[in-house]
Amino acid sequence: MPHRIASRGANAILFVMTIRSRSAFAAFSPLFIVLGLLAEASFALAQSPELPAEMAAPDLLRPMAEEKAGKLDDGATPPTPTARPGEPEGGKAGEKPADAGKEKTEPKTAAKPSDEEIACRKRLSDLGVEFTPHPPLADASGCSAPFPLTVTALSEKVEIRPEAVMNCRMAEATARFMRDVASPEAENIFGAPIVALNHASAYVCRSRNGQTKLSEHAFANALDWASVELANGEVITIARQPLSEQKNSKFQSRIRRAACGPFKTVLGPGSDADHADHFHFDLAQRRNGGTYCR
Ligand SMILES: [Zn+2]
Repeated sequence: MPHRIASRGANAILFVMTIRSRSAFAAFSPLFIVLGLLAEASFALAQSPELPAEMAAPDLLRPMAEEKAGKLDDGATPPTPTARPGEPEGGKAGEKPADAGKEKTEPKTAAKPSDEEIACRKRLSDLGVEFTPHPPLADASGCSAPFPLTVTALSEKVEIRPEAVMNCRMAEATARFMRDVASPEAENIFGAPIVALNHASAYVCRSRNGQTKLSEHAFANALDWASVELANGEVITIARQPLSEQKNSKFQSRIRRAACGPFKTVLGPGSDADHADHFHFDLAQRRNGGTYCR
């Protein structure tokens, strides 16, 4: 279509010039004819090689864009094949190495952290939690954690040993519970605050004991408390205690009762044989935010 319109335009110019200066036209007519022919030829040449390119380009580029899960289509990327390949590595990888790693290992969870995730990490920092982002976790059996964190301390005062891989919500709930409930309770009962939490497991890709359903541990959404260490060096072990250890028993029962709510599942010594030597706390989502505490 542009070809025809341009042709008409060229003809119109020829016509006008013809009327305005017949004598000049006589002299230059061969030149006008040559110009007209050149114009036609140039349009024909210009169009034929471009057509296939224009038609082919979107089809060739679209699959590439989709493979990247729409992430790169931010409008700033002209669809030129030569510009594409270097782009994901250069731009995004340079800014956020952690995200780039996710993009390569686990495309489905490669999305940037949500606003809530970012806000949660900010709250962790405000609580004094020491953590680093852990690469996304995913397993064929369904275990997954898109934004796990490796947590080394629940505050400036309380370490977690060994370092624990949890999602941000679980890390936050644990840090708050330690600060607001567990450590003050230890101070009340033993006269010394908690300086370390020794856990038995955090992220573990496994099903619930004796069941096929995945454990909350498989989503980095659970933490097992094995013992806590106090500032005076005493270690309070989570397990059923002899009568002589009344303080420990009191501490455990208070912690356990208070944990039901901040954590959605609370299990421990007496729940079943699997929980005889630790507290299991998790943030399993149940209908109406219900809890399961045994
Ligand atoms: Zn557990």
